[in-house]
Amino acid sequence: MGLQQHDDVVLLLGAPGAGKGTQARFLASTLGVPHVASGDLLREHRQRGTKLGRAAQSYMDRGDLVPDSLVVDMLCDRLDRPDARRGALLDGFPRTLPQAQSLEDRLARRGGQVRVAIYVEVPMDVLVERLAGRWLCKRCQASYHEVFNPARRADRCDSCGGELYQRSDDKREVVANRVAVYLRDTLPVVERYERQGILRRVDGDQPIEAVRAALLRAVAEPEVVAA
Ligand SMILES: [Zn+2]
Repeated sequence: MGLQQHDDVVLLLGAPGAGKGTQARFLASTLGVPHVASGDLLREHRQRGTKLGRAAQSYMDRGDLVPDSLVVDMLCDRLDRPDARRGALLDGFPRTLPQAQSLEDRLARRGGQVRVAIYVEVPMDVLVERLAGRWLCKRCQASYHEVFNPARRADRCDSCGGELYQRSDDKREVVANRVAVYLRDTLPVVERYERQGILRRVDGDQPIEAVRAALLRAVAEPEVVAA
């Protein structure tokens, strides 16, 4: 199983909390292509101090967003490496319609395309439940979850008795807002690929093995598999 042509990419779309990270690595190895996460790529370029990394850093130093075109430059640079000769699985990009357009234009100029877009779908309330409700111990940093791994006493660490606190990122209203922003920006991207007939929806609200099986079915369709 694998991608046939250079620069034919598979996109993995899914909100924060959809469990995309683990599934992306699994799917990439199944397809025999690299897993390319835009966030990792950006970090790597900045650490290595490449021309693209320095350009990105200058925007970040000014408190600006890294422009889409620069992220697309990094993705194309990644696609030029030998391990991506059969394409790549892109994770975390595009998140918006302009990003999708920018990526598609650039791929088209290289003779490539988005082959298939997989959307890992999880209901909003489940996403919030998964992401919110984490509490940390002030003393030993042990981690608890209100639902999945609660402390025996609501405000104290089981192992050291330290006080538990919640990072602002883990507060329910902050999480709900982060998910809402993702859905607002990214659902138009999902609809775009649906109209193009290359969208595969995968139910992410089921056990991990079932999600894997659904992902395999999504990429096993004829247009994705090499002849
Ligand atoms: Zn503790």
